[in-house]
Formats: sequence, structure tokens, C-alpha cells
Amino acid sequence: MKKFIPKRVFIEEGALEYALTKKLDEDFKKQGIPVEYIESHNRLNPKEQMSPIELFNWTKETLAVGVKKTLRFKSCKPSADYRVVTNTSCPGKCEYCYLAKNLGSASYLRIYVNIDEILEAVKKHIKKGEGEVVSFEASSSSDPVGVEHLTGNLKKMIEFFGKEEKGRLRVVTKFPFVDDLLDIDHNNNTKFRFSINSSYVIKSFEHLTGSLDERISAANKIQKSGYPLGFIIAPLMIYDGWKEEYKEMLLRLHKELKSPEDDRLTFELIMHRFTTRSKNLIEARFPNSSLKLDKERYSHKGFGKYVYPEGEAQEMKEFMEENIEELFPNSSIEYFT
Ligand code: SF4
Repeated sequence: MKKFIPKRVFIEEGALEYALTKKLDEDFKKQGIPVEYIESHNRLNPKEQMSPIELFNWTKETLAVGVKKTLRFKSCKPSADYRVVTNTSCPGKCEYCYLAKNLGSASYLRIYVNIDEILEAVKKHIKKGEGEVVSFEASSSSDPVGVEHLTGNLKKMIEFFGKEEKGRLRVVTKFPFVDDLLDIDHNNNTKFRFSINSSYVIKSFEHLTGSLDERISAANKIQKSGYPLGFIIAPLMIYDGWKEEYKEMLLRLHKELKSPEDDRLTFELIMHRFTTRSKNLIEARFPNSSLKLDKERYSHKGFGKYVYPEGEAQEMKEFMEENIEELFPNSSIEYFT
């Protein structure tokens, strides 16, 4: 697949002080990409009126280059202790994406150029852990691998965490662009997880992301470079033939992964869920979606949140756990939710 190239770029004036911004500014102009200078990366809107579909497409073609001003770290359970944000949104267009829902009309891509300041704040936060290991999730607000060719932020983070005895970094991706991350002294302190799914889910809902083959091939490169590796299977969906397809996916993973017996291998399992807000947004952005957002069929958990009914959730949990344990006996399942 091709790497992301924005159709238009907005650069925050304050970001021009950073060398990376100057380089990006020149590179975009050389490629004929229109660049506009703005006061703040926070509230970008197209000049003309747009329908929800047009607006969503506009945001996913738009890049803002800015400075991350809030250097506080929010909790990120169950994935890690805290989030570390070096970019926001991603080039993919997964129909179910919780991030696109949370960002609303601000789902344009943002990259932050003050990585050194962000890492300085991370360092102080690790110190506050008073000797305990402190973990940070790099993918809570984005897929950092999807824009790494523009920023190099992930490489800097991996190098930084490689030197932090008590700091750990966790990354999740659906993109295969890991080649520049393979020769880094990561010191086992960064864990990569590839988000994978059945062929039906990838084909129907995960637009502009790497194919399953590309993700497994990238996972092999990461494993060969000695990084701890895991897989997130999410969102797990129930549809005609789901058991056959998930089994097929796990068999393929087992066959194609160079070291399926790796005892550091982990799985995180997350079932499909939606909220009234996400349903409204998804239906406006993807009017022909075959995503099932039927409130009658799901179980209401309160606060407008819908999940699979308990019996089906239990069946899925048992099915996935049994198959993973059979094919990857040395691996561990971190959670099912
Ligand atoms: Fe959302 Fe991840 Fe898909 Fe990007 S790759 S659209 S962050 S689910």
C-alpha cells in the first residue's frame, strides 16, 4: 500500500520554529501540495459548506502540523498506564473507528513537531513512578505508524524508551511501514501490536489500511528485530460464518508468523460495540455501510453504549480463547472485553 500524502497542509505559525516543520514545509511545496499558515491547529474547517461525507473525506486528506501544548498524561487502561500523543487521527478510514467518532469534525490528521518537549515530559512522569515501571500507549489518539514517514516521531520515542529503565512504550498499528524502525536499540522496552481481523471485517470496514498479509509481514520484521510482539483482534464481530473466518485468520497467522511459539506473544481481544453517538456519525459518513448497529439486537449497557448480548459474548470469548491456546500455546491473552 502507498504511504499517506495529504491533499492540503496547514502549518501552525508556532511550529515554524522547529526544524522538522521547515523541512516538511519545503517538501510539501516541492510536491505541489498547497500549504497555508494558521494560528492554531485546533479548529480547522473547510471554507465551503460540506455534507457529513464530504467533510469526513476532507478531514482525512488534510494535515495540520502543530505544537502539542498539553503535556499532561491521561490514563489509558487496560492498554497502558498513560497515553503519549505525538499525532492525532490517522490516514485510515475504518468505519467503526472509535477515534473518528471521538474527534467528530476534527478528525483531520495532526502531527506534532515538539517531540523533544513531549519526551522531556514523559521522562519527568516516569520519575514520578518512584521506581515502578510506567507504560505509555502511543496509539490512543492515532496510528503513529501511518504518518511515521512524515515525522520520525516513533523512531525517536523507541530510542528514548530504549534508554529508560522504568519506561515502556506500546504501539498498535494497521499499517505495514516498519522498515525504518527495525535497526533501533529498543532494548525490549517497546511493544508492537498489530491490529488484525477476519477477511470479511478487513474488506468491509477497514479502508485505506494495510492488508492482513502486509500486517503479518510487518509483524514478522518486528519480531525478527527482537521487539516484543502482540496482536489485537478488534473489533471482534459476529456475522454469518464468523467462526470459520476467525479460525482461518488464526491458522493463517500461525502459518505465516516466523515464530508462533514465541512466549512473549500476546493477544488482546475486543468485541464490537457502539454508542448512539457513533451510530449517528457512522450512518452519516458511510450511508451504505453493512456495519450492524441495530440497538434491538445488541445489549444496552447504559450511557448509550451497546455490546453483544451476554450469551453471544461468552460464546465468542470461549471460541477465541480455545483457538488461540491451541495454536499459540506459549502466548498469553491479556484481556477480552
Ligand atoms: Fe481508526 Fe485505527 Fe482505522 Fe486509523 S487504523 S481509522 S485509528 S481504527
